[in-house]
Amino acid sequence: MSHHIGRSWGGPGHLEALCPCPLAPCGLVDRDNLDPECQQHPVGRMKTIRTGHAAEDCPGFGVSLTEAIGDTELARIAVLDVAASEDADHGDFLDALDAFRAAVEHEAAERIRHWEREAQTLLPLERGAARGAANLIDPEATE
Ligand SMILES: [Zn+2]
Ligand SMILES: [Zn+2]
Repeated sequence: MSHHIGRSWGGPGHLEALCPCPLAPCGLVDRDNLDPECQQHPVGRMKTIRTGHAAEDCPGFGVSLTEAIGDTELARIAVLDVAASEDADHGDFLDALDAFRAAVEHEAAERIRHWEREAQTLLPLERGAARGAANLIDPEATE
């Protein structure tokens, strides 16, 4: 039986977002469909697997959150790259900071949307409030 696995506690994280393995529908990676070049997930890398489930228990959503987490990590690295560059000016630095802020806000909204989809017992009013909060933070997302 196939398993979806990840290296972060409690769900997919930036290691899944930024590795070359194809993402399962939940945002984790499929143990039977790993990229051999991946430095994180193949058994031979001897890395700790901290989360997972059988494919038949997959919630079927989570890729958009995983991608948002990965985008935040890349934007964070980009800020450091600009800060370390001798050619970058204040405008470049502000652009990198704005991109990082946008990535953080998108990730925050995706976390709220993911929480709302995952929750089993919310009242309709609570679901509406969660969606409204996510859309206030990140109005461009359509999910
Ligand atoms: Zn991987
Ligand atoms: Zn899954």
